[in-house]
Amino acid sequence: MSDPVAAAPLPPTPAEVVIIGAGPVGLFQIFELGLLGMHAHIIDSLAQVGGQCTELYPEKPIYDIPALPICGAQELIDRLMEQVKPFDARFHLGQEVTEVQPQPDGRFKVVTSAGTNLIAGAVVIAGGVGSFQPRRLAVPGIDGLEGKHVHYRVKASVDFHGKELVICGGGDSALDWTVALADKARGLTLVHRRAEFRAAPATVARMRELVAAGKMRFVEGNVVAHHVDNDKLVRVEVQGADGERLQLPAEKVLAFFGLHPKLGPIAEWGLALERKALKVDTEKFQTSMPGIFAVGDINTYPGKKKLILSGFHEAALAAFAIQAHLFPDKRQFLQYTTTSPIMQKRLGVAGADG
Ligand SMILES: Cc1cc2nc3c(=O)[nH]c(=O)nc-3n(C[C@H](O)[C@H](O)[C@H](O)COP(=O)(O)OP(=O)(O)OC[C@H]3O[C@@H](n4cnc5c(N)ncnc54)[C@H](O)[C@@H]3O)c2cc1C
Repeated sequence: MSDPVAAAPLPPTPAEVVIIGAGPVGLFQIFELGLLGMHAHIIDSLAQVGGQCTELYPEKPIYDIPALPICGAQELIDRLMEQVKPFDARFHLGQEVTEVQPQPDGRFKVVTSAGTNLIAGAVVIAGGVGSFQPRRLAVPGIDGLEGKHVHYRVKASVDFHGKELVICGGGDSALDWTVALADKARGLTLVHRRAEFRAAPATVARMRELVAAGKMRFVEGNVVAHHVDNDKLVRVEVQGADGERLQLPAEKVLAFFGLHPKLGPIAEWGLALERKALKVDTEKFQTSMPGIFAVGDINTYPGKKKLILSGFHEAALAAFAIQAHLFPDKRQFLQYTTTSPIMQKRLGVAGADG
């Protein structure tokens, strides 16, 4: 007989506010809530924080963050992480929020793909353009090799050393990894549907030098089939623009066709949407469901601009609205971090300046 005590599901963890999405705007939301004395849990489907900044353009400089004339995208995320430290948010990374359900008492049940189960007073959706999914190779039956022989990102470059590699794509990622791995691989072929590339010209030039030096090959075409022997990938078949088919030895295929965002479960939570974005007002940044707010790239309102600084402003106003939602009897007034002893205490800088 099963033990009824052991079988009972764990009760959900209470959370004052849950933020869905740890991009720049979700991170700044922690700060704005913290300044007003509210604690947040933050969840992201990616294994790391930073959203588009970290996932899509970590090394690119950003020039339109107020008071930072130039700031690397990853640097911005590192600075935000430093700024939110005093507020001790709980991070739940590598898990997608699959369910947000209003409860009879006005709170929200928030459940993730990893089984995290929270019960929140308010929810802020900072889901950006959704969860990122790699565009996959359109080769029948190749899905089963994903993560073992077919990869859409490099976790550890050493996994590809000494291997027969086929790299697919014509953008920065494909060309950067081609150049980085050409000397390390046993053999390397770059496959792209045409001889023009979208990558940085210097990297394309370096790739052409490597081809000229006999250190790698470039083939114009598309991978159309693969051959497995004893559970191991042995070669792929490429069809050229002229229809000719070519066999290439391949132990590992790396495909970089870009990422496409998928709104995913957010679209199923019964919230009003307009062109795949959540409709909000511009006073509270609240969605069509009271208690659920949306900030950053995921929301829409007249005049919306998908910029980081717009998201920061939205997060500040949403924090006041969340405070009013959670503590309707509390009197609200604006305080400056420069002069407010209570904010300075929350920031851990109390007494820093007499
Ligand atoms: C190449 C490039 C250059 C850019 N340059 C600039 C610039 O110079 N200046 C500027 O202001 N903006 C720039 N942007 C835009 C800027 O990056 C975005 O406006 C910003 O990232 C939006 O932040 P966010 O926090 O709203 O969303 P995102 O950064 O998209 O983060 C959202 C996060 O939510 C997560 N998520 C989504 N759904 C779920 C779910 N169900 N469960 C868990 N997690 C979920 C995602 O995984 C993601 O990490 C640029 C964008 C690109 C692509």
